[in-house]
Amino acid sequence: MKHVILVRYGEISLKGLNRNYFIDLLVKNIRNTLKRFESVKVQKIQGRIIVDLSEEDLEGALEAVTKVFGIVSVSPAIVVESDIDVIEKATLEQAKATDFKTFRITAKRGDKRFPIQSPELGRRLGAVVLRNIPDIKVDMHTPDMNLWVEVREETYIYHKFIQCNGGLPVGCSGKTALLLSGGIDSPVAGYMMAKRGVELIGVYFHSFPFTSDRAKDKVIDLAKIVSGYCGKVTLYVVPFTEIQTKIVEVCPERQTTIIIRRYMMRIAQEIARRNGAMSLTTGESLGQVASQTQEGLGATNAVVDLPVFRPLIGMDKQEIVAIAERIGTFETSILPYEDCCTIFVPKHPETKPKLEAVVKSERPMEEIAGPMIEKAIEDAEIIRV
Ligand code: ATP
Ligand code: MG
Repeated sequence: MKHVILVRYGEISLKGLNRNYFIDLLVKNIRNTLKRFESVKVQKIQGRIIVDLSEEDLEGALEAVTKVFGIVSVSPAIVVESDIDVIEKATLEQAKATDFKTFRITAKRGDKRFPIQSPELGRRLGAVVLRNIPDIKVDMHTPDMNLWVEVREETYIYHKFIQCNGGLPVGCSGKTALLLSGGIDSPVAGYMMAKRGVELIGVYFHSFPFTSDRAKDKVIDLAKIVSGYCGKVTLYVVPFTEIQTKIVEVCPERQTTIIIRRYMMRIAQEIARRNGAMSLTTGESLGQVASQTQEGLGATNAVVDLPVFRPLIGMDKQEIVAIAERIGTFETSILPYEDCCTIFVPKHPETKPKLEAVVKSERPMEEIAGPMIEKAIEDAEIIRV
């Protein structure tokens, strides 16, 4: 008896994409996610992916594989020889190992060389289970346990269907530069882009000593959690203290927030370009704070030409928190280490900044910013998560 995980991917998500390319990429991502498990072998067979592994690796591998984008559901299964005696014995063993009062057998004969047709096989296996386990009943419609028996070259027996995250395999939609802060929103924004198949280049602006190294570690931890879903994140930790302090020194206080954000965008775009990323992504949500009004977003957008994706734009904080909790970033995000924006927040930030006014306020930075930006990018620490 062998153990496997059956992996199902959505047919709908294949539309418009090259099917084989999609599946090969998914196989590659699954292999990559499971590479720490020595027993694992991943292969594709007729419409699905099979992960072969030892019983010891099953639990850990199952937890990891359910996170991989592009997978709709998985089932842990046992695999036995396609021989009726062997199948009967294994079916009974599986039933005995499960707690249920009502059950059904769903038999599927995929290999026409097998002599018993599906309905007959179902009845026969059902009878074996009924005969050998006391106090149980057949229920074809809402059984406690639906035991699937799929006869192919080998026979797969399973009863658990674990729903996964769906989406597209990471790598099929190019790269984005994700402005990743230590907050609740941006890791969720990154998760959502990765779910659509985008590889993440994280960009974190670090203002040491205003933000401690613990704040930086927190961002690295968040990138690690997100990488559990998307495989890898390349994280740029950009030293931002000099630029930020300079802005506060030379620009009008009411507009410093927006100007700081404009410099973040400029630098992120440069990092995106150098990494072949086609867009920027932020965790902004309309109206959440003063800089996230339409005027504010417009003023931050104006400095870049790459498209800026804001997957949380129409979400309430509560909805974002619910996703953060589900994907496991929330606990880390609410750790109390300040990020640079909270330190440099003006007392009365402009909520409706006019672009011309911002450009004017920013003028003192113009002559001096170029070399500072270049230096910040050059000195950025690159962490492969
Ligand atoms: P988050 O939005 O992640 O919860 P936040 O609410 O503290 O963090 P905001 O001030 O709302 O951050 O900033 C909006 C967006 O700007 C963030 O979602 C993030 O994409 C980006 N951002 C803010 N600060 C930083 C930073 N220090 N480094 C990188 N990106 C940042
Ligand atoms: Mg926010």
